[in-house]
Amino acid sequence: MKILVKAPAKINLALDALHKRDDGYHEVEMIMTTVDLADMIELEDTKDSSIKLSSQNRFVPNDERNLAYQAAMLLKKRFNVERGLNISMTKTIPVAAGLAGGSSDAAAVLRGVNKLWNLGLSLDELAKLGAEIGSDVSFCVYGGTALATGRGEKIHRLPPPPPCWVILAKPTLGVSTAEIYNNLDLSNVQHPNIKEMVKAIENEDYEGICNNVGNVLESVTLNRYPEVLALKQQIERFGADAVLMSGSGPTVFALVQYESRMQRIYNGLRGFCEQVYAVRMLGDTQHLD
Ligand code: ATP
Repeated sequence: MKILVKAPAKINLALDALHKRDDGYHEVEMIMTTVDLADMIELEDTKDSSIKLSSQNRFVPNDERNLAYQAAMLLKKRFNVERGLNISMTKTIPVAAGLAGGSSDAAAVLRGVNKLWNLGLSLDELAKLGAEIGSDVSFCVYGGTALATGRGEKIHRLPPPPPCWVILAKPTLGVSTAEIYNNLDLSNVQHPNIKEMVKAIENEDYEGICNNVGNVLESVTLNRYPEVLALKQQIERFGADAVLMSGSGPTVFALVQYESRMQRIYNGLRGFCEQVYAVRMLGDTQHLD
C-alpha cells in the first residue's frame, strides 16, 4: 500500500522568548500558522523490515539524521512494528529557512504512518510523540494556527486568521536555530505582545494582526546577517501590510491583503532575492492530507 501526505511550512506571526530554562532551551511563546507551501511525502510498504528514505535535495540527509526518518523509526520501535517503509520526499520548502520544513516532514510521517500501519493514535498522542523529535513537530502534527508555549511543544489551538497573501523571501544563506538562540540577549529585546496577537486572531482583526507581528530572534539574526536586514527593509519599502522574519530566519515574510499589491511586491523582490514565493495563508487544519 502507498499513501501521500502533505507537509506544509509554518510561519511565526509572533515569537517571544521569556527566559532560558535549566535544560538549555528557552521558554517561548509563539504564534504559528501554516501556509500553502508544502513538501509532499510518499509512504510505501516494503517487503523487508527496514526504513529507507530518499529525497532529491542535496541539502537534506537521506539517513537517520532526517527528522522524517526519525519519526517513522520512533513509531516502529515504540509500537514494535515488524513492517518496513519507503519514504520518498519531494522538498519544496527551503531548507534551514525558519519555515519548519524538517519538523513538518516528521509530523506528516507521524500522521501518515499512523494510518498506513493502523496504529489508531489520536492527534494529541502523535503530537506528544512528535515532541521527542523536535520542539516544532507537535505544532506541525495539528497544523492550522496555534499558540505554542513551553519549548514550543505545548499547543493551544487558535482559529484561523483572516485569509491573506504571504510572500516568503529566503536569502541564500542557511541559519542554525541553535546558533541564534545561543546568542540571544534577552535584556536587550523588544518583546511582541502575544496577548494582543491572540486577541486580534480571535477577533479576525487583520489590521490588529499586522500591528502585532514581532520576533525577538530578529535581534540576533538581523545583526549577524546584514543581508537579512537589507531584505526586510527592501520589502518594507515595497509597502507590505506587515513584514517579519520567520523563526530564527533567514526567511522574511510579508503579509498582503490585495492580490495586485502582492503581485507588485513579488515581482519587485524577484530581482532582489533568488527564492521568492507568494502563497496563501492556510490557517486552518482542513488542508492537511
Ligand atoms: P525550524 O523553523 O523548525 O527551526 P528550519 O526550517 O529552520 O526549522 P529545516 O529545514 O527543518 O530548518 O532544516 C534544518 C536542518 O535539519 C537542515 O540543515 C537538515 O540538515 C536537517 N534536516 C533533517 N531532516 C530534514 C528534512 N526532512 N528536511 C529538511 N532538513 C532536514
